[in-house]
Amino acid sequence: MYLVAVVDDTKCMSCIGCKVCVRTCPEPNTTRFIKSKRKVVIDPQRCKGCGLCVVICPIGCIKLAHV
Ligand code: SF4
Ligand code: SF4
Repeated sequence: MYLVAVVDDTKCMSCIGCKVCVRTCPEPNTTRFIKSKRKVVIDPQRCKGCGLCVVICPIGCIKLAHV
């Protein structure tokens, strides 16, 4: 079991599309903002669970979860 970042389903509609999480993630091509859905998608295969996106999201849309 390990930690990865996931979008909190209860808050994902609050995403303001600032893309701070995308710019902050140290792992390439892990976090993407889908403009048409106004939503962030995180690749669990690439995420290292560092938690940077969790602390930097101004809305609190992202959380760490055990998988
Ligand atoms: S930092 Fe938060 S509000 Fe900004 S794009 Fe990422 S998930 Fe959305
Ligand atoms: S937890 Fe770290 S590696 Fe995973 S998506 Fe967030 S910033 Fe990227």
